[in-house]
Amino acid sequence: MKNILVSGGAGFIGSHLCKRLIEDGHHVICLDNLSTGSKDNIASLNTSPRFEFVQHDVEIPYILKEVDEIYNLACPASPVHYQSDAVKTIRTSVLGAINMLELAKLTKAKILQASTSEVYGDPMVHPQVENYWGNVNPVGIRSCYDEGKRCAETLFMDYHRQYGVRVKIVRIFNTYGPNMQPNDGRVISNLVIQALTDQDITIYGSGKQTRSFQYIDDLVEGMIRMMDTENDFTGPLNLGNPHEFSILELAKKVIEQTGSQSRLVFSPLPQDDPRQRKPDIELAQSKLHWQPVVKLDEGLKHVIEYFKKYCFCPECF
Ligand code: NAD
Ligand code: UDP
Repeated sequence: MKNILVSGGAGFIGSHLCKRLIEDGHHVICLDNLSTGSKDNIASLNTSPRFEFVQHDVEIPYILKEVDEIYNLACPASPVHYQSDAVKTIRTSVLGAINMLELAKLTKAKILQASTSEVYGDPMVHPQVENYWGNVNPVGIRSCYDEGKRCAETLFMDYHRQYGVRVKIVRIFNTYGPNMQPNDGRVISNLVIQALTDQDITIYGSGKQTRSFQYIDDLVEGMIRMMDTENDFTGPLNLGNPHEFSILELAKKVIEQTGSQSRLVFSPLPQDDPRQRKPDIELAQSKLHWQPVVKLDEGLKHVIEYFKKYCFCPECF
């Protein structure tokens, strides 16, 4: 049994990761300030004596005597949320990384950073391979997130080179699944909720921009395999589903699967919105013997079922 800390553990990805680590027999400490996460996401884990929730902001140092592994996920991930308090976002990425790395240094724990495909910005290389340095606007509205995550990657590598901390960096591509908050604002949750409630489906720009959507179970498997790699393998390593869809294709699938009467409405593309995104996953395939197995059609079914349990009447939503 390992002692494992998950920062951001009450969020969408973190809650699935905590659940899987508990199922694998570990002791899990979930650290979260609940800014975009929810206690509901971890309610089923509270019955386990091997699960502990600590409400804490990663901007503030956190000390533990013993921990074997740290997964650093604390950070808002939806553009709506990370832009709503941009300074807080970059503080979370940078100070959060330093505080979690200091803890890893002190306890000699292995530490994994949840980085992002956003480090590639609006990519000029397609599909995105790990040795591509990206095309990121340093002064735009997405920069608090993109540059925060890029700086965190730098910190991880510097703690590794300077102090010998055992680090792992995964670059996560658009991931979806149950436990996303209804007000999350990212495309899959928005479109599914709009379709279920026969509201207009909001397409930003022409809808021809692309993303590659990864189901949560595939991601969690990849993260755990990455943590288990040999000490000298740091990444960065892409984790994503290489099947690429335009936002219009996604909308069509959502409408078909929900039988919705919703119509598409178009609004301007937000500033610096990447035009295309698709991971090159050769490194993950060879190092982790991993590749995604859940197709978008199947994953969407689970998300639709998940959001059906919510009441979206004006009083509740
Ligand atoms: P999320 O918003 O659901 O989860 C983030 C969690 O971090 C929330 O529970 C939130 O309350 C917590 N948090 C935020 N700021 C904090 C702080 N200062 N101190 C403590 N806790 C804090 O988002 P998610 O989709 O689960 O993303 C988790 C991680 O994965 C993030 O680091 C994100 O950048 C990364 N990621 C996600 C995706 C994706 O598609 N979901 C893609 C790339 C990277
Ligand atoms: N998007 C959209 N309608 C929405 C929400 C998002 O058309 O209601 C678009 C958005 O402009 C982007 C893509 O969908 O091109 C993915 O957006 P999301 O916020 O999910 O993630 P990210 O842009 O960070 O990949």
